[in-house]
Amino acid sequence: MLTKLRLPNIRYSFDPQRISRDDAKFGRGEKLDLGLQGRVAIIAAASKGLGRAVAEELAREGASVAICARTPSELEQAAAQIQASTGREVFHQAVDVTNPDAVSHFFGAVEDRFGRLDICVTNSGGPPSKLFVDTSPEDWRAAVDLLLMSTVLFAKEALPRMQKNKWGRFITITSSAVKQPVDGLLLSNSIRAAVTGLARTLANEYAAHGITVNNVCPGYTRTARLDGLAAAISARTAAQPEAVFADWTRQIPAGRIGSPQEFAAVVAFLASERASYVNGTSIAVDGGMVRSLL
Ligand code: NAP
Repeated sequence: MLTKLRLPNIRYSFDPQRISRDDAKFGRGEKLDLGLQGRVAIIAAASKGLGRAVAEELAREGASVAICARTPSELEQAAAQIQASTGREVFHQAVDVTNPDAVSHFFGAVEDRFGRLDICVTNSGGPPSKLFVDTSPEDWRAAVDLLLMSTVLFAKEALPRMQKNKWGRFITITSSAVKQPVDGLLLSNSIRAAVTGLARTLANEYAAHGITVNNVCPGYTRTARLDGLAAAISARTAAQPEAVFADWTRQIPAGRIGSPQEFAAVVAFLASERASYVNGTSIAVDGGMVRSLL
């Protein structure tokens, strides 16, 4: 026999201001359509590695993308290659993500070119691998500028533009180190935790504007940065770089280093219409390396 449940008399109020106004413009197909067609995305530090793979994935899904990095020749080449492989327009500008004026100018130029901004993926080069004893106050300040302040600069430019559309995806690239510190990566372990705290707080403050903020944490992924880290560890410990890679691989349940494309696929999902109720998370893309429950 069914018993009638007595529910407390709670009134839920519907606030239309909290609903994204322009979502209806971006249709969904029957299949898993990410709804990225027509969206405009900025991807920082994207001439190589993870940033570049993210730019390519978003462009392949139909977004117009704008990329930056410091070295103009490599940036230009990356933009041309992404444009050729995806058929989407790729805007590029040489920018150091630690330079407030250059960042501001970049956002203005992207807005002039594409007329709007929907998605912003923050990224930068990684700080050097050092032990505490070898790390100077200048090293700390430079790493704060590179990792934390660059994210603040991008957030300051991106979020008000997304607020205008009542829709946005702000995604920070950090590291598995925010879940499980990596030996020898003192600066990364310390300062990326602050970036994660920033992202989590922005997720709370901007959700009412139709904006999600999420953090993606790469584990060991095959890029130039990883080769550089292996070389630095090799110089410090006399282990061959191949032995360093073998040691990393042993820590990964998947039994292999990840590819930038595997990382980019997760970012593309978070950037999509489909991820509208994923907010304030830190998602590891690490083949299962971080052993925590959450
Ligand atoms: P990467 O292959 O070395 O590429 C770095 C990109 O960032 C390049 O396009 C570089 O171009 C650009 N860049 C560096 N400093 C910049 C600056 N100040 N302003 C603008 N652009 C800048 O590195 P990655 O492996 O893709 O790593 C990306 C981020 O993820 C790094 O912070 C890294 O520490 C972190 N991460 C990587 C892994 C991994 O296994 N690959 C794991 C965990 C975390 P320019 O030099 O021309 O500026």
